[in-house]
Amino acid sequence: MLETGIYVRVSTEEQAKEGFSIRAQEQKLKDYARIKDWSIHKIYIDEGISGKNITDRPQINELIKDIKKGLVKNVLIFKIDRLTRSTADLIYLINLFNEYNCAFNSLCESIDTQTPSGRMFIKIIGIFAEFERENIVERTKLGFERKVKEGYSLCTRTASYGYNKYIGDKIQKINEKEAVIVREVFDMFVNQGMAFLDIAKNLNGRHIPTKENAVWTARSIRNMLTNCNYIGKVRYATKDEERNFEVQGNHEPIISNELYEEAQELISKVSKKSYTKHPKEENYFSGVLYCAKCGARLVTHNDVYKNKNGDKIYKGGYRCSNYIRKTCHSSNISHKNAESAFIAHIEQIEDFSAMAEIQLEESRKSKDTNSKLIEKLNNQLKNLENKEKEILSSYVDNKLKFDRYIQLKDYIEAEKCKINEQLTEIPVIEEDTEEMIIRKEDIIKSLKENWTFLTNAEKRLFLLKFVDKIMIVNELQNSRKGIAKITDIKFHTD
Ligand SMILES: [Zn+2]
Repeated sequence: MLETGIYVRVSTEEQAKEGFSIRAQEQKLKDYARIKDWSIHKIYIDEGISGKNITDRPQINELIKDIKKGLVKNVLIFKIDRLTRSTADLIYLINLFNEYNCAFNSLCESIDTQTPSGRMFIKIIGIFAEFERENIVERTKLGFERKVKEGYSLCTRTASYGYNKYIGDKIQKINEKEAVIVREVFDMFVNQGMAFLDIAKNLNGRHIPTKENAVWTARSIRNMLTNCNYIGKVRYATKDEERNFEVQGNHEPIISNELYEEAQELISKVSKKSYTKHPKEENYFSGVLYCAKCGARLVTHNDVYKNKNGDKIYKGGYRCSNYIRKTCHSSNISHKNAESAFIAHIEQIEDFSAMAEIQLEESRKSKDTNSKLIEKLNNQLKNLENKEKEILSSYVDNKLKFDRYIQLKDYIEAEKCKINEQLTEIPVIEEDTEEMIIRKEDIIKSLKENWTFLTNAEKRLFLLKFVDKIMIVNELQNSRKGIAKITDIKFHTD
């Protein structure tokens, strides 16, 4: 039987605020120990004392003494913050438990050092403790930074595609055969307007493998296009963005700075658009069309029918993404109609200042909608947090079984995660400045002059570079005969 020390703590304030009673905690923990078949050595209670530090708590010090004497081989608490609210103290205690081979269990966090995940938790805390003590984290970071600043690539095992680095090499050397492909990829993306996936397909179709002998994906192409190695630089990146930097490396570049910069600019625009279906080349409006009725993105939707000879004919088109959810009943728009509407719209833009006025007003409006949405989501978060407190006290009051409590807690956690994700996805809207308006005039002018002379790929490239959103609607119900109308075009102005 495991000699168990039960530790219970509650501050006067917590007792009053959360109804977090000593007796309830104590009873839960006793029950738990009984189920686990542990023998209770002693129950240590610090009542009316805060968890800020451990020095002023007589009973926790009593518990520490008993662990050191070997009288307690297992510590059981209700929640980690009962033990301490200070990370330094927590690390101290976990180290102590480890040193004296004492198990540790927390009911609310379901930590049980006799289970693999519980042991993992302790291990992680232990590792952190070590890092903190020795300050290794800081030193490692500085070491990496120095290495990068001296211009050496950090990848020790494999060099980027296009380079070789053998054991003992300090500097990566160009792999001429691969470098040809790198240049080709940048060219396909920047000059030919090909999408990541199409580039990947092109390479795979020619049986050119990646460095790891795998097939290319849209992601690996994107990674290649954003790899500063190719302009002779080395990147040091961490989660701590303030510490990110790129420096001149010691290796030879594969592509020019200009081409690389152009690729970066294009990527920042492409990444804002996601495609539900991969567009065909002639569907070059993919990703920029939005439903003027409901505001949702249009997705490519190609009609397929057979002609007299039985051949399949594809007719390019677009459809509101809310159509499938049945929340919007806008008709489909054929690609041909979208093209005519686009030309008609740019033709009629004459009085530019009036349009700019309207856009200014619009951006103010969407700013407003966003802040309302943020407020709504924050309220939902608050509600969930209250729910969390409620179920905890129901559990403490025996109104809720342990399993059910954990289930509900997990559910609430997941909901909170979702809301937080939504919050991070809300875009920041900046109002147009005068400079932007002038830039827009330039864009429109060149559009009017050049559009009809462009190839499909060039049109796609143009739209990606300069157009953020085209609001469009089909004015008639029948999709094939309907006439599309553009109500607004928003341009990139950066
Ligand atoms: Zn719609």
